[in-house]
Amino acid sequence: MTAKKGFIRRTKQREVILDVLRSTRSHPTADWVYQEVRKEMPNVSLGTIYRNLKTLTEMGQALELSYGSTYSRFDGNPENHYHFVCEECGQVTDLDLPVQKQLEEDVSDMIDGQVSYHRLEFYGVCRDCLSLAEATDHEAE
Ligand code: ZN
Ligand code: MN
Repeated sequence: MTAKKGFIRRTKQREVILDVLRSTRSHPTADWVYQEVRKEMPNVSLGTIYRNLKTLTEMGQALELSYGSTYSRFDGNPENHYHFVCEECGQVTDLDLPVQKQLEEDVSDMIDGQVSYHRLEFYGVCRDCLSLAEATDHEAE
């Protein structure tokens, strides 16, 4: 294969991956993206998916949300925004809250340095899990 064809193929792969990522608001794992991309490109490998997600993140077209020891999730919306994470089902939801730019300035002053970005996440139990827990409680009575 010529270098040009290789380049076109890689660009095409990255486009499909970004489309898949932007088609959902579920903040999917690399594995979920892999299953979806395979429907369009059956020969794609999981390694290719990981590599492209990393590249997209570095290019500022996606966000990687890493949750400690558990696997990363990816977000097709690269603008800083806040999330709610359900500790029961793991669902990650976007929050319609203004980003607190002032915090970054305050912290920059505090550390006498320069903050480039911040992340803010809220943890708890989502509505679905809450009503499921309530239903189970009633059954137990
Ligand atoms: Zn939940
Ligand atoms: Mn998000």
